[in-house]
Amino acid sequence: MSLSLEMTMVKKTLPFTKEQIQKIIRKNPTPFHIYDEKGIRENARRLYKAFSWAKDFKNYFAVKALPNPFILKILKKKGMGTDCSSLPELLLSEKVGIIGEDIMFTSNDTPADEFVKAHELGAIINLDDISHIDFLERALGGKLPQTICFRYNPGPKRTGGVQLGDPKEAKYGLTEEQLFKAYQVAKEKGATRFGLHTMFASNELDPAYHLATAKMLFELVVAIKKKLGIRMEFINLGGGFGVAHKPEDVPLDIETLSSEIKKLYTHLIMANGLDPLRIVMESGRMITGPYGFLVTTVRHLKHTYKEYVGLDASMANLMRPGMYGAYHHITVLGKEDKPANHKYDVTGSLCENNDKFAIDRMLPEVERGDILVIHDTGAHGHAMGFNYNGKLRSAELLLRANGEVVQIRRAETFDDYTATLDLKNLEKFKP
Ligand SMILES: *Cc1c(COP(=O)(O)O)cnc(C)c1O
Repeated sequence: MSLSLEMTMVKKTLPFTKEQIQKIIRKNPTPFHIYDEKGIRENARRLYKAFSWAKDFKNYFAVKALPNPFILKILKKKGMGTDCSSLPELLLSEKVGIIGEDIMFTSNDTPADEFVKAHELGAIINLDDISHIDFLERALGGKLPQTICFRYNPGPKRTGGVQLGDPKEAKYGLTEEQLFKAYQVAKEKGATRFGLHTMFASNELDPAYHLATAKMLFELVVAIKKKLGIRMEFINLGGGFGVAHKPEDVPLDIETLSSEIKKLYTHLIMANGLDPLRIVMESGRMITGPYGFLVTTVRHLKHTYKEYVGLDASMANLMRPGMYGAYHHITVLGKEDKPANHKYDVTGSLCENNDKFAIDRMLPEVERGDILVIHDTGAHGHAMGFNYNGKLRSAELLLRANGEVVQIRRAETFDDYTATLDLKNLEKFKP
């Protein structure tokens, strides 16, 4: 495979100045996540432009990445739908008027009531297992939806030189044999419109993986038509499109990827008379990830066996470094041009030693009161937040395209922390 990669480094830039942030902090104390509306909109436009050759292309934004309805509203305006996998995500989508076939319900281990709600909303239901055909049919009172999609698990298959995953490990999807059976059964039960989905990559920057996904799905569309006479209406490439977190990462070249997919489409789909076939995806991370920033203040500096920078943010605001060892770039605001000649562990205040945003990170000399900006927190950042250790989730702000700043979620308070406790009963309670 010869994709031309642009071997340039990503410059980790900020959409705001230090003065702007200082002004914002006067009204909104740190820590907070701030999202760059202009960046999100331009990125969405770029994706849709890259796939403009594909008829009715759509990205169903994976709500789990950034479940804030203000963001969903921006994405809706850009032509996106939602990819939901739970009842609350469906309800959030409904709140901003993303309903009907603009919802892809890609769930697993799903309870009946969630299938019912998804169907009520008119969502496209994407089944994770062959046994779910009967389960869904029963949940909906004996009738399968007209439109049905299945999630394919390629198991140990190789395509285009890419190993598609470890069959022992992936809990998702149907085997190839089950997949053919499933379409047959669904058709017999009255389904008339069909989709095919897969997802095996995660945060993948190598276009070869995404191209292999497209190729595999196109080939299956051809095989399913030949074997079962069933014509696929759409393929769903899933998510897993990567974000260039490190300055040396080569960003995913979406234009080249799209034109390579177009070539495959011509050779496999058009050549077999299966055009038009809709191409959709359900990317979350790539859509908002690079356009979120966790803004935090240095509380303490500590010198023991190592040098520590202690922040007012913690793992409760951004779990990825602590949980996966994920790299998130850090800018010391106002010191961008100073040499990064000090080695620090950058920590939060949780009583867990993995509450570190960075280990052995080279930064300019940091002082108490410095503002640190942690990059690429626009997906799986605030969303993964939790209350362990009495840590309260931060606010979310939106930097509008016109420079205005809007609070789109306030910070949690102690009342939020205790909202699920029966404190009235506590007074009467005698141990
Ligand atoms: C998480 C997820 C996505 C989105 O993945 P990204 O990493 O945001 O691209 C899409 N589809 C399914 C089924 C998922 O679980």
